[in-house]
Amino acid sequence: MAILVTGGAGYIGSHTVMELLENRDEVVVVDNLVKGHKNAIKGGKFYCGDIRDEDFLDRVFKESEIEAVIHFAAYSLVGESMKDPIGYYNNNVRGTITLLRFMKKHGVKNIVFSSTAAVYGEAKNVPITEDDDTCPENPYGESKLAIEKLLKWASDSLDINYIALRYFNAAGAHESGVIGEDHDPETHLIPIVLETALGRREKIIIFGDDYNTPDGTCIRDYIHVMDLAQAHLLALDKLKKDGESGIYNLGNGKGFSVKEVIEKSKEVTGRDIPVEIGNRRKGDPHILVASSEKAKKELQWKPKYNSLEKIIEDAWKWHSNTH
Ligand code: NAD
Ligand code: UDP
Repeated sequence: MAILVTGGAGYIGSHTVMELLENRDEVVVVDNLVKGHKNAIKGGKFYCGDIRDEDFLDRVFKESEIEAVIHFAAYSLVGESMKDPIGYYNNNVRGTITLLRFMKKHGVKNIVFSSTAAVYGEAKNVPITEDDDTCPENPYGESKLAIEKLLKWASDSLDINYIALRYFNAAGAHESGVIGEDHDPETHLIPIVLETALGRREKIIIFGDDYNTPDGTCIRDYIHVMDLAQAHLLALDKLKKDGESGIYNLGNGKGFSVKEVIEKSKEVTGRDIPVEIGNRRKGDPHILVASSEKAKKELQWKPKYNSLEKIIEDAWKWHSNTH
């Protein structure tokens, strides 16, 4: 029996595939390679195709004995979603609907779903717990929240069990340095800072230094991609064991400002990182920090790499050596 990983050629997907392979799980990856990279898949069986393509998906389920699904495939850029809300709903929501239909058809019950801190919008509490209000400020977050709600109804009446993992800011890379974060275009802070350290970008623009935070720049909760990967395996275990659906935050519970990330990156890389203060980016909440107590308690999740320094070191290893 195999684990089907949609979006397994992408950043978090490829790291989770590594973790599954290291755990000796059988893996089937589905990815249309619109954003992912074939060479990031380090094992298992690969199908190149779109999860909205019914014949394709039916064939994948027919040809492999699928035990459970980890569902990463989605568009995930806030800014892009503001410009193309229909495209975002089409890929994220329609893709999940098609996936659920074929899971149902082939008798596959368990799914772990990639959700996001973007479902919260401007948070009222620090740290944020899973019971806090959800009020997304962009179509990307809305599409993920719509899927969470769909999963809830599907679990109530269709015998589908789900765990939705609301990731905060995924960062870092596999310790080996063989895979890492490789988005095009890259919009995330840590890879942009490291590309600047390497001289591939002239400078990093800080999106606003007039927020209500100690140094005026936004605060985020950065979580090592391999700690995220581990959580997916634990979520699968839990679904297999008790079939109980649920929603879990995944973060470090510690926030770092944009300026702090840049300072730490200067220390780790020993390079100069030129900075310019720019305008605020639309839709950026001033602070997002997770409480992950529920995941620690119920999934027995034990993050191993929870220092900003380690996250930047691993990302740097990949960016500076192999990218
Ligand atoms: P990514 O773009 O690197 O990976 C997504 C993968 O899905 C890509 O390889 C892409 O080609 C594939 N894909 C997209 N639409 C598809 C489709 N219709 N059919 C088949 N394949 C398709 O993104 P990522 O950073 O690895 O994020 C993975 C998941 O985690 C996404 O669902 C994202 O919303 C979520 N997430 C990411 C972060 C983060 O910090 N990176 C934070 C919160 C949530
Ligand atoms: N950021 C920035 N300059 C950049 C990219 C990001 O100042 O070139 C800031 C962004 O405004 C946010 C933080 O860095 O406050 C993290 O942004 P990222 O896009 O990595 O993740 P997000 O929190 O948007 O998911």
